[in-house]
Amino acid sequence: MKNDVIIIGAGIGGMNAGMQLASQGYSVTILEKRSEPGGKMRRVFYGDCIFDAGPSLITMPFILRDAFAQTGSVLDEYLKLLPIDPICHYRWLDGKHYDCHSNPFKRNEETEKIFGRKSMQEMNAYMAHASKVYHATKDVFLFNPFDGFKEFFKQKNLPLLPALPSLKFSTKFHSFNAEYFTNPKLIQLFDRFATYNGSSPYLAPATLMVIPFIEFEYGGWYPEGGIYAIAEAFHKRCTELGVNFIFNADVDEIIIDKNIAKGVKAKDGTLYEAQHVISNADVYHARHDLLRKSKEKKPELSTSGFVMLIPMHKNPFNMSHHTVLFSDEYEREFTAIFKDKESPDEMTVYISVSGKSDISQVCDDKENWFVLVNTPPTSGTKEWSEEKTARYKHSILTMIERFLPGMQSYIAEEPFIITPDDFSMEFHATGGSLYGSSSNSMFSAFLRPTNTDPHIQNLYHCGGSAHPGGGIPLVILSGQFAAQSVMAHS
Ligand SMILES: Cc1cc2nc3c(=O)[nH]c(=O)nc-3n(C[C@H](O)[C@H](O)[C@H](O)COP(=O)(O)OP(=O)(O)OC[C@H]3O[C@@H](n4cnc5c(N)ncnc54)[C@H](O)[C@@H]3O)c2cc1C
Repeated sequence: MKNDVIIIGAGIGGMNAGMQLASQGYSVTILEKRSEPGGKMRRVFYGDCIFDAGPSLITMPFILRDAFAQTGSVLDEYLKLLPIDPICHYRWLDGKHYDCHSNPFKRNEETEKIFGRKSMQEMNAYMAHASKVYHATKDVFLFNPFDGFKEFFKQKNLPLLPALPSLKFSTKFHSFNAEYFTNPKLIQLFDRFATYNGSSPYLAPATLMVIPFIEFEYGGWYPEGGIYAIAEAFHKRCTELGVNFIFNADVDEIIIDKNIAKGVKAKDGTLYEAQHVISNADVYHARHDLLRKSKEKKPELSTSGFVMLIPMHKNPFNMSHHTVLFSDEYEREFTAIFKDKESPDEMTVYISVSGKSDISQVCDDKENWFVLVNTPPTSGTKEWSEEKTARYKHSILTMIERFLPGMQSYIAEEPFIITPDDFSMEFHATGGSLYGSSSNSMFSAFLRPTNTDPHIQNLYHCGGSAHPGGGIPLVILSGQFAAQSVMAHS
């Protein structure tokens, strides 16, 4: 049977595209290399514990609600989102710590208590600026398909032109943060938001100020049942609407005839014909491998990550759901990652213990510690030898011990480790990058691949490496834009 639409990949972007199209009467088949839906959003059972092994924090919950509403359903019937408070607990090596709340009153109180009144005022001034930038740019850069530089010359976007200087494209994010905050710890805290899309605060444009604004304004959320409940909700809605899933189907080639996409061929040789092909795969993989464009240039990739899933015995550390342990050498970490292409030896560590917010994630007598450290993208699929992995694990545990002395004596099972090579192989993610291309240049937003392929008719892209970028809310939007493009070209 000829499908209206074939989608390569059952990531969140691909599934949203699928459910949008199916709700409009299209027949949709999703081919997924792995044996389950969700892509980088996945769940691991290990050592009597349950872990979210990918994303751990959700912002902009209204994007999830809208995605379900657009298919004629209500998110709450599929998923219960819980607000997280504090959103994140930050710690420094000198013993200082700070809880970041999205409630502005609680945030002001905590900021004044920990950093003083002046810092609290600086933070509010920062948020006021970031709010203006978010509202001026969101419709152009986030909530609509984007056509690169041409976008600016469209009649509807002309009102943005007077706001251009306040967007600070040519100022580095770190410099902007340093202009606003006098306390170096707050500069570092705000710099960290560049890592939300895998970029360096020392290279990325100040426009990234919208990321902390979004987190503070819309809060941090966690679904009851774990983050994977989101993947299950998308999968369920797709299935209700008749989307056909074929798992363990690794697509080898996108079939093109006279520059028009006609379907795909799986690695086992099966041909799937379709009127339209949406790729939820990494765009470089789609072009270089599936379209056989051997000269395709690799973009500058976002960070990859080194993950440890650690079942921990009950312990005295009283962890928050989300904790960041800051290194003292923040700039050196990013130089190591993006310039030297080496994993930093003193690193900032992120720990998420989802059982702290969600009873369904509590595992009997243990705690589920998800530990993530940013790394450079891998150069292939064999960079992370056993020896390198063991060395890095040791460095991370040593770093955690500096904040939480005795932590290692509570480890209940040998950590389950996921390296950048694993991300690369598991998801065909170029360099194992977590968020697609980096935003390290002032032109990144303009150069990100568009949702409609500019060269091949009836081919579309969604997911973290296409517009509007990585992270769960954004990939949901990218799926929506790809689906809209299919409808516009049908
Ligand atoms: C460790 C980690 C932490 C993260 N933390 C956060 C967070 O806290 N908050 C947040 O919002 N985001 C976070 N992210 C990012 C977020 O997970 C991703 O941006 C998002 O899940 C990507 O969705 P996607 O639609 O691009 O598809 P992906 O998840 O990349 O899925 C693409 C799918 O396509 C399949 N595929 C690829 N090629 C082929 C092929 N040739 N044939 C068949 N199938 C193919 C893959 O197997 C995969 O299942 C994190 C990611 C990771 C890995």
